[in-house]
Amino acid sequence: MKKAIVFLISLIFSMSFGQSLKREKIHQFADEYFVEGMFTLKEFLQLPNIGSNPDNINLNLSWCENALKALDFKIELLTSEGVKHLLAEKTYQKKAPTVLFYLQIDGQPVDSSKWNQKNPFDAVIKECVGGECIGLSWEKLTKDFDPDWKVFARSASDSKGPAIAFLQTLRILKEKNINPGFNIKVIMDFQEELGSPTLPALVRNNRNELSADAILIMDGTRPPNNLPTLTFGARGIATMRLTVYGAYKNLHSGQYGNYAPNPVFSLSRLLGSMKDEEGRVLIPGYYDGIKLMGDQKALINSVPQNEEELLMTLGIAKSEAIGETYQEALQFPSLNVRGLRAAWVENEVRTIIPSEALAEIDMRLVPETPAERQIQLLTNFIESKGFYVLEGEPSEAERRKYPKLIKIESRIGSRPFRTPLDSQLGNWLGLAMTRVFGEGNFIRMQSTGGSQPIAPFISELGIPAISVRIPNPDNNIHAPNENLRLGNFHEGLKMCLGILTQKYE
Ligand SMILES: [Zn+2]
Repeated sequence: MKKAIVFLISLIFSMSFGQSLKREKIHQFADEYFVEGMFTLKEFLQLPNIGSNPDNINLNLSWCENALKALDFKIELLTSEGVKHLLAEKTYQKKAPTVLFYLQIDGQPVDSSKWNQKNPFDAVIKECVGGECIGLSWEKLTKDFDPDWKVFARSASDSKGPAIAFLQTLRILKEKNINPGFNIKVIMDFQEELGSPTLPALVRNNRNELSADAILIMDGTRPPNNLPTLTFGARGIATMRLTVYGAYKNLHSGQYGNYAPNPVFSLSRLLGSMKDEEGRVLIPGYYDGIKLMGDQKALINSVPQNEEELLMTLGIAKSEAIGETYQEALQFPSLNVRGLRAAWVENEVRTIIPSEALAEIDMRLVPETPAERQIQLLTNFIESKGFYVLEGEPSEAERRKYPKLIKIESRIGSRPFRTPLDSQLGNWLGLAMTRVFGEGNFIRMQSTGGSQPIAPFISELGIPAISVRIPNPDNNIHAPNENLRLGNFHEGLKMCLGILTQKYE
């Protein structure tokens, strides 16, 4: 009898802990809490959130603190190199695994004059037909909303929308008395758009506080087909600035044409020699270590993708020849000229021989191609083309001695990460997504082309990471008229409900 009671109690307990909510319930809860979630998002979006502005950080931080306190989370403020981060924690069952959720709270700066609304922080709902968007009253927002309506505001998609989808889901679970399938930690970053400069030190100095079994990044945009997406990696980034020198000053092109060399030609030849006509990098060793094979190749290409449509969307005739598909291309490091400058153009053009030509380079990196190595390879390559490499401005003696002078400056940004598609974390999330949407109605993507500042967590804590992607692909993030599609926010609630009620094992 006693045994039977213990069994019964443990059965009831295991049912309330990490119970898998049925698909119908998930849809029902998302409907029930959608409008309230949208109004919470509106309130949160009203707080300006430029990461370089301490007042903005404090404003958002205290809002988040209150929101998490109301959900019975234990709050801790972690300061790293003078910048505040918010850590929140809730233990549902002592022995259960812990998942750390990373939320980005800050946004890109705004230029109000370029937005089609007065204040980019005052969220507006709009109905868009054929590129024309008409504002709607918030009173129109009911359970029977049109999923194609969009809410326009800075950070709607990047990433306050996903943050509120997550917080609203915690609220649903609390009110419905459902315990998640694991313990939860939340780390909030208020300087993601600045490259999270203090995150590596934060993780290094707070290993215990941040320790977890896995990390989920609630940030990032979906691919063009707008299906619910899990992304298992991100490329890292390193940037370089190359300055090629000519004469001391800009020179009259009549007086000195045919006599003083123009650095634009020298820089152009150099840049031109870095890639072949098919877009493949010609720097020796640039792709070393990368092998895409059999099963892995098939998994990478399992993302439904119409390449013809993609070429059409981009308005290009032919893609570059790195990898056989778009998804494969993202598994390689890229080499990009992100800006060029020499003298003046358009209305300001003048007949001179420029004294300098400057190219800004960015390299997106994968785990096999570390930033230090790629920077060194590019530097060696430049030297092999007969350039004398400087770290600062050329001296008089250097100008006289070396006909080809170049200054190279480099900066390493976030590191790449990659979680195997068939990892435990991947399989667990796959179960959650399948329960909500059904197999085939969501995407597992090996790597996004962009970068996320998550590597410190992975390298310091030794835990895998996956990013959960809610926002629509046409969301204008970082630009004027950033928006989040209402249907995506609604689906975001369902994604979070599925994940939070999937027992982590
Ligand atoms: Zn961003």
